[in-house]
Amino acid sequence: QSFSSMNLSRPILKGLANLGFIKPTDIQARTIPVALLGKDICGGAVTGSGKTAAFVVPILERLLYRPRQQASTRVLILCPTRELAAQVHSVAVKLAGYTDITFCLCVGGLSVKQQEADLKLKPDVVVATPGRLIDHIRNSMGFGLDQSEILVMDEADRMLEDGFADELGEIIKSCPKSRQTMLFSATMTDNVDQLVRMSLKNPVRLFV
Ligand code: AMP
Repeated sequence: QSFSSMNLSRPILKGLANLGFIKPTDIQARTIPVALLGKDICGGAVTGSGKTAAFVVPILERLLYRPRQQASTRVLILCPTRELAAQVHSVAVKLAGYTDITFCLCVGGLSVKQQEADLKLKPDVVVATPGRLIDHIRNSMGFGLDQSEILVMDEADRMLEDGFADELGEIIKSCPKSRQTMLFSATMTDNVDQLVRMSLKNPVRLFV
């Protein structure tokens, strides 16, 4: 199987080719078609499996094919650490290199003021760590997730281990109920399962 047989649009195929991604990995082959249908996904996948493109590709397709009149943040991707968020952000920006989709990286260690200014521009996609995002939700004027359509929780087990359960709950509550949610986790602990039950609707479970 190749990406070109997956019914993806030209700019996305060009973005994939630009990164040297020709053949989908196992998790990509299984996640992308299901995610394109708008279904919630609970994926058991570790770093190195290619899970980043597995959720970024269907996100970009949706943003391209359901345009919005008014600017608003439409996608939130949560990651446990700054490093991981920066990595996901960088891959997403590259995959979207032939589109005009906009992104913001929202993590600790970067200037809060600058991030506030960036978020006010309503980037289509925000890649964030839960701690820093909560600060913006609580303090920042002009940023909200009320128009968000897709929520991704990457490495959910690590976010819970790092004590972000309360932040996750608060962030999930500030997204519309009608959203699509994708959760990825290397391990399926009781806490992850509880998060799945609280935030996903009839998820398709994919394990690689
Ligand atoms: P990830 O699990 O998303 O962090 O990806 C792990 C590594 O695999 C990264 O170095 C990616 O650049 C690479 N990768 C992801 N998808 C593909 C693909 N379809 N073809 C070749 N390399 C890939």
